[in-house]
Amino acid sequence: MTSDNDVSQYLRHCAVAALILVAAYGLFVADFISSWILFAIVAVTLPRWIISVHELIHVKSDKQINRIISCLAISPIPLSILTLSYPQIGEIHLSHHRTPTTESDPDAYHIRGNLFVVILNALSAPEQSFIRSVQLNGFNFQLGVDLLIKLLILGILIFLGGQKFFWFWLFLRIVYGLGDIVFFRLVHH
Ligand SMILES: [Zn+2]
Repeated sequence: MTSDNDVSQYLRHCAVAALILVAAYGLFVADFISSWILFAIVAVTLPRWIISVHELIHVKSDKQINRIISCLAISPIPLSILTLSYPQIGEIHLSHHRTPTTESDPDAYHIRGNLFVVILNALSAPEQSFIRSVQLNGFNFQLGVDLLIKLLILGILIFLGGQKFFWFWLFLRIVYGLGDIVFFRLVHH
């Protein structure tokens, strides 16, 4: 059973992870930390967000979750200009639990196949899940608003860090991709 205490703990973990990532990026932009340290921080912090949001999906519907987490969903720093919001990732994930790795599992595409395919799919999972979800369930107003908010966040981060944002983004994508392989491929094989 998940108590309200657990829920507030997950929400706190999300907030802390988001703050740490933003602070680490700020320190990197200001040349206070090297890219290796930034990578290490991303590697320990982003999974904390992902695991907490996963736990929240199992206990809180999209109506019960706060707007910030609902918008950002898979990562506090937008991984792409095409990422889903909480209602869609929640729906995909719960459907994955109902029919794991079968034809009707929306996550089957990044679980099955040879390792090379799995790596390519893991690295492109945010966009692929977005496109697959929109093809299946269509696009809605809230998803559009969330995409604009994420675009704005990306714009601000690029404005502040210039080329340095590319490294930050690359590290986030590598860590997210590795997490995808661990949580989907390895767990189900
Ligand atoms: Zn789950």
